[in-house]
Amino acid sequence: SPASDAQRFLFALMLFVGVMTAVLLGATYVGVRYIVRQIELVQVKSSFVSNVTHELKTPIAVIRLAVETLEMRRFRSPDEEEKYLRTILKESDRLTQLVDNILDFSRLESGQKSVRLTSVSVEELVSNVLETYRLRLEDEGFQWHLDIPQGLPRVHADAIALQHCLLNLLDNAVKYSRDRKEIKVVARERDGMVSIAVSDRGIGIAAEDLGRIFDKFVRVETGLVHTVKGAGLGLSLVDQIVRAHHGRVEVASTPGEGSIFTMLIPAERGGHGAPQESQGGSPAA
Ligand code: ADP
Repeated sequence: SPASDAQRFLFALMLFVGVMTAVLLGATYVGVRYIVRQIELVQVKSSFVSNVTHELKTPIAVIRLAVETLEMRRFRSPDEEEKYLRTILKESDRLTQLVDNILDFSRLESGQKSVRLTSVSVEELVSNVLETYRLRLEDEGFQWHLDIPQGLPRVHADAIALQHCLLNLLDNAVKYSRDRKEIKVVARERDGMVSIAVSDRGIGIAAEDLGRIFDKFVRVETGLVHTVKGAGLGLSLVDQIVRAHHGRVEVASTPGEGSIFTMLIPAERGGHGAPQESQGGSPAA
C-alpha cells in the first residue's frame, strides 16, 4: 500500500541520514585528532630545540668563564687553578654526552645505528663508566656504592652503547636527587639475564608518568624539571639500545622516595666468568 511504501521510504531516508551523520562525525573526529597531534608535535619539537640549545649554552658559558679566569691568571691558589680545570673537564664531558645522545638518537631514528655485539664483562663495563663519572659524583657531593658479585656471567653486548646507557641512568639519578644524595649500582644474575640497576633517593616518578618517560622528548612536569636541564632523550635511548640487545628496562619508583632503573641484558651462554679467562677488574681471581 502507498502508506507503507511511504513509511519504508521514510525509514530508509532516516537510516541514510543517520549513517551519513555517523560517517561525518567520525571523519571530523579523526581530522581533529590528526590536527591536534600535529600541533602537539610542533610544540614538542620546538621545546626540544629550546631544551637542547639551553643545555648546550650553559656548559659553553661555564667553560668560557673558566678558561678566561685561567688565561688572565685570576685564580689565587693552585687549588683554585685545579678547580677551574676540573670544571672545564666536567663541562666538556657533559657536552660530549649531550652531543653523543643526539647523534645516537638520530641514527637510531633513521635506522642507521645497529649494535655490534661482543663478549663483555659487566664488572669491567661498570668500572669504566664509574671511572669517568666519579668526578661528577664527587663534585655534586654524592655517596655511591657498587655491588657487583664476582663470577657474574659475561653478556653479549655493544660495550660503548651499553656504557652510554649506564651513563644516562647515572646522570638522571644525579639530576633528579635533592637532599639525599645516594646512588647505588647493583649487578645480579637473574633468569639467564644480567641485571644492572641504578637506584637513587631522589624525587621519584608518579605512577601515572611511569608509562611515558621512555618516550622521546618526554620530560615529566615536576617542580624540578624547570631547574634541571634535559632534552628528554636519555631514557628513550636507553630503552631502544637495551631492546636492540634483546633485553628490557624496568623501573620502580616512589615519589619522594627514589627510583630504580634496571637494565636486563641476556647473559652469554656458558659465559660464567670465574673459571674462564681473566675477568677484568678482579685482581684477586
Ligand atoms: P631528561 O633529559 O628530561 O632527563 P630522560 O629521557 O632522561 O630526559 O628522562 C625523562 C623524564 O623521566 C625526566 O624528565 C624525568 O622527569 C624522569 N626521570 C628520569 N630519571 C629519573 C629519576 N632517576 N628520578 C626521577 N625522575 C626521573
